[in-house]
Amino acid sequence: MTTRDHALELDTQDPLARFRDEFVVAEPGLLYLDGNSLGRLSHRAAAAAETAVRREWGEGLVRSWHEWLHLPAEIGDRLAPLVGAGPGEVMLCDQTSVNLFKLAWAGLRHSGRTAIVGDDSNFPSDRYVLAAVAQAAGGEYREVAVDPVVGPTADELAMALNDAVGLVSLSLVSFKSGAIADLRGITDLARRHGALVLWDLSHAAGVLPVGLAEAGADLAVGCTYKHLNGGPGAPAFLYVRQSLQTELHQPIPGWFGHDDMFAFDAAFRPAPDIRRFAVGTPPIVSLRCAQAGIEVSADAGIEAIRAKCTGLTELLIERFDARLAPLGFELASPRDPEQRAGHVSLSFGEGYRVVQAMIARGCVPDFRAPSLIRLGLAPLYNRFVEVFDAVELMAEIVERGEHLQFEGPKKGSVT
Ligand SMILES: *Cc1c(COP(=O)(O)O)cnc(C)c1O
Repeated sequence: MTTRDHALELDTQDPLARFRDEFVVAEPGLLYLDGNSLGRLSHRAAAAAETAVRREWGEGLVRSWHEWLHLPAEIGDRLAPLVGAGPGEVMLCDQTSVNLFKLAWAGLRHSGRTAIVGDDSNFPSDRYVLAAVAQAAGGEYREVAVDPVVGPTADELAMALNDAVGLVSLSLVSFKSGAIADLRGITDLARRHGALVLWDLSHAAGVLPVGLAEAGADLAVGCTYKHLNGGPGAPAFLYVRQSLQTELHQPIPGWFGHDDMFAFDAAFRPAPDIRRFAVGTPPIVSLRCAQAGIEVSADAGIEAIRAKCTGLTELLIERFDARLAPLGFELASPRDPEQRAGHVSLSFGEGYRVVQAMIARGCVPDFRAPSLIRLGLAPLYNRFVEVFDAVELMAEIVERGEHLQFEGPKKGSVT
């Protein structure tokens, strides 16, 4: 059984310990367990934003576009190894929801079919977008009902696949449970049925190695503001397998996707590479912050990040068994570390009030209705002792009934 001293010992042996100093820690006592929702600010991102504003914009003015124009693809190349992609296969642009729309549309049209298969544990924005794309194609969005802890499996999806299905779209890591789906198996399955797969890597990128090319993945999108610490609203990324790029046509032909944007041609002619999936002017300051976040992760190394992450989630589950299970909490994430990414969810009837009490005591997790407390563990800055302390705090709150002083959920609040 791990003691607090042992947790402190794990921190002294942690090869990534020094990466905490890469981040702005404004309140040293704050137990921040929400890096899977909004990653911390890195010193590099703060400096990059300052330079982008004062020097590149302030001094360089429009001349800075010579450099800025290439940033979305350059940063994509820097991110590519973290998700197992090659150069020229990843680009930063737009929001995850927008990129999902663009690639779902492009993939479905390419298939010549009209149905999309997804699952009912996916992130709501993805579900809305996929339904809209299928509807616009005159087809349907079929949702497979899955175990919310385990997430979608190849066997369940196989039953929904037939000749009408041109696209399967899933999250690689469940936003609720942190379960990792079978990238290879599901990609192969869809291919056998003549469908493409569009993966959402939002809760995977930056916290576990993703082997996109190795699995023969077709399409992917994801966030940079979660485990990649890109900052609030930082542009998302998209991935299109090299050999598919010139075959796909996305639905928003903007000038940034034109083969020769400054020719100002009357007709749209898509760029013969990843740039064709861009639309309009990228948000440069946010892009610089995302670049800084990606560089910190790349420097740490995705294998080292994964190894520490597994250690953190293992400790959390051990402490859950010891302290929280006896109080009525239930584990809503996979027990097998191979199946689990960077967050652990605990279900508790009064979860919302427990989260309010935790925040009041300086510990920030998040809450997903109706009863999930999500504890996000960010290997670049979370410490083993923070995991220990967070579980002790939760146990103390419930043992003393502290959460009962807080009100239940209100509509529209950020949790
Ligand atoms: C966080 C997240 C999003 C967010 O999409 P935005 O358009 O960037 O707001 C979408 N999908 C999944 C699976 C997510 O986890």
